Amino acid sequence: MALALRSREAERLSARSGSLFLLVKALNRFFAAIMKVLIVYAHPEPSSFNGSMKDLAVKVLTSQGHDVQVSDLYAIGWNPVTGPHDFTGGRSDPDRLSIAREQTHAMEHGTIAPEIKAEQDKLLQADFLILQFPIWWFGPPAILKGWFDRVFARGFAYHTGRKYDTGMFKNKLAMVATTTGTSAQTYAPDGIDGSLLTVLWPIHNGLLRYAGFDVLAPFVAHMPGKIGEAGRAEQLASYERRLETLGDTPRLYFHPAEDYGADERLKPGVLARSGVQRNVW
Ligand SMILES: Cc1cc2nc3c(=O)[nH]c(=O)nc-3n(C[C@H](O)[C@H](O)[C@H](O)COP(=O)(O)OP(=O)(O)OC[C@H]3O[C@@H](n4cnc5c(N)ncnc54)[C@H](O)[C@@H]3O)c2cc1C
Repeated sequence: MALALRSREAERLSARSGSLFLLVKALNRFFAAIMKVLIVYAHPEPSSFNGSMKDLAVKVLTSQGHDVQVSDLYAIGWNPVTGPHDFTGGRSDPDRLSIAREQTHAMEHGTIAPEIKAEQDKLLQADFLILQFPIWWFGPPAILKGWFDRVFARGFAYHTGRKYDTGMFKNKLAMVATTTGTSAQTYAPDGIDGSLLTVLWPIHNGLLRYAGFDVLAPFVAHMPGKIGEAGRAEQLASYERRLETLGDTPRLYFHPAEDYGADERLKPGVLARSGVQRNVW
């Protein structure tokens, strides 16, 4: 009898703490800033694991009230190759093609190709950018690299005096969500593939931080093709948890401008902390 009472009491308390938990969750959502999210997704197969991660992100972030937009690069037939076709008006120099100069000119004159402008507009509106792609040859698929080349144009994503701390996309947030063909161990700092942060440095630092973004730690699903159904389900559950706890996700460390000397090297005495740079004194 006493045991039954105790268990009813426990049920009552657990139901109460359950509803309290739901209330706290709802309040968190209410008070969390509603973001405009852009997911740039680069995989040719909709039923791929990357496709599932993208679909999951749309579902979870939308359910949190965020406004989510996807650029599905294969679906829109994105042309990754930059060239004279990127510039629809008169060129700054019709005789010799300098992509950076023509990008600046086209941004100033509103003559950048319409498909680039459409992507730039999405980026301008976004508070949070997710890059969803598989690691191919230690980098993003060419279609995504070509999106960087054409969309992150000079005069739009960077300019004289506008890089890193003073980057054009200051106060915006970005995150890489990616998959690999090999294990986390191979991507350990002493692993055969080398640290994944080193592999992703061109994107984290060379693209996102260069353009001013704050960058969250990447979400990496290691070798989804080789870990079985249960392993894949756990990876998706883990990605869902990440998406639900973005506010608690650490940001990658990048040295601030004052850590560098006039030669743009870390000043003597500044301990390299980015995870990729190292001191040479
Ligand atoms: C050109 C090229 C270069 C590469 N270079 C590298 C490299 O440098 N480094 C490296 O580590 N790897 C490399 N790889 C491997 C590549 O990174 C992996 O194959 C890729 O990351 C796996 O992701 P995916 O989305 O393609 O997986 P998929 O093969 O599409 O999916 C894996 C499995 O997940 C299943 N799945 C999909 N959705 C779900 C779901 N919702 N629930 C449960 N299961 C699901 C699929 O059916 C499939 O069985 C390379 C591959 C290519 C093609």
